[in-house]
Amino acid sequence: MAASDRPADVTVRGGTVVTAESVQVADVVVRGGRVMAVVAPGTIGVAGPTSMSIDAGGLLVFPGMIDAHVHFQEPGREEWEGFETGSAAAAAGGVTTVVDMPIDCDPPTVTAALVEAKGVAVERHSRVDVAVWGGLVPASLDDLEALAAAGVVGFKAFACPSGWEDFPAVDEATLAAGLAAGARLDLPVALHCELESLGHTAASEIAAVRWAAELAADAGARLHVVHVSAAGAVDEARWWPGVTVETCPHYLFLDESEAAGIGATAHCNPPIRDLDNQERLWDHLLNGAIDLMASDHSPCPPSLKVGASPWAGIDGVGLALPLLISDGRLHLTEIARLTTAAARLLRLPGKGFLAPGADADLVMIDPDSPWTIAPETTWSRHRQSPFTGRTVKARVVMTLVRGRPVFTSDDGPLAPGHGHLVRPHR
Ligand SMILES: [Zn+2]
Repeated sequence: MAASDRPADVTVRGGTVVTAESVQVADVVVRGGRVMAVVAPGTIGVAGPTSMSIDAGGLLVFPGMIDAHVHFQEPGREEWEGFETGSAAAAAGGVTTVVDMPIDCDPPTVTAALVEAKGVAVERHSRVDVAVWGGLVPASLDDLEALAAAGVVGFKAFACPSGWEDFPAVDEATLAAGLAAGARLDLPVALHCELESLGHTAASEIAAVRWAAELAADAGARLHVVHVSAAGAVDEARWWPGVTVETCPHYLFLDESEAAGIGATAHCNPPIRDLDNQERLWDHLLNGAIDLMASDHSPCPPSLKVGASPWAGIDGVGLALPLLISDGRLHLTEIARLTTAAARLLRLPGKGFLAPGADADLVMIDPDSPWTIAPETTWSRHRQSPFTGRTVKARVVMTLVRGRPVFTSDDGPLAPGHGHLVRPHR
């Protein structure tokens, strides 16, 4: 057994423990990589001594973020990103589980064998745990059952061209069949909701949500709308039972004019919209109408982030917790809910909560330690954050995955190879 695989025993002392339900000063006792107890400070004697003690006085202790939407592009396109650098950026931002999209890796994750290949790459190179979406494309309909058996969390599809020939959009028959399979296998279908005929407009997002939600209702399936930019798409989604929505920090903390000033590194689809839309998206967030926060981390080589039509994708994993906590508009419990909800939506065992029995995936955050986002603080492969230059107050001090430190603010990301492939409860 490698050292990093040994069960971790640790006590995180005196931090302000934040969950989706409460905020309380407590000691968190970890045994064998799992939370054994959350107890009043100083009562640790009840649980006995542990091998490592971390003083979290003055720090927030959150359950690690579950980022339902990253493109780490491995295997096959490691020159764009990969589990080593992607997981470094995740760990540095308090993200302890990512859910990897089936597109941008080469080949895309459309068969059970490719899920297994993903798992090998994760165990070798990742610091954080990884779950996997399977690809829903016209050619993968016969593979959905095997993908489910291999442990995907659900199926991801595009309502419009994805930009890759090996990952075409779904036509209506394919989406209906995929939703039916999702209903039968009790897995959600995640959809990029824009229609080619309407381009990258707000109306395009709204129309795509309506189109897919009707089909999902017919199938009795769960539909997850990824990376909502248009506030109106949230309004539309809320009409439909069984439809969940995610949004991303770049839609909440950048507006159209700022994005234009930043240029290619802020270019993404759907695009960052105007300030009025951003305010309405925040209203939805504050009203609890958005189910979860994800990064849609989707970087590319710098050579493709130039010119009149740069690659559409944001280098952004790991910024949600620092940005949301620094912003201060959302209550801490609500931040915990939004950053862990993916574990419940995708039924990831042991993930997304901080209570006895949970995996000890914890992030310690100093809420008042200003720092400036810069290439030196960005651990992704190409360090191209659109937030470069922005100062935030909340700083990740340490991230634990199953009780093991994977990042500290003093040492940066620690050695990779600790990540596991996580399969959902079936
Ligand atoms: Zn994406």
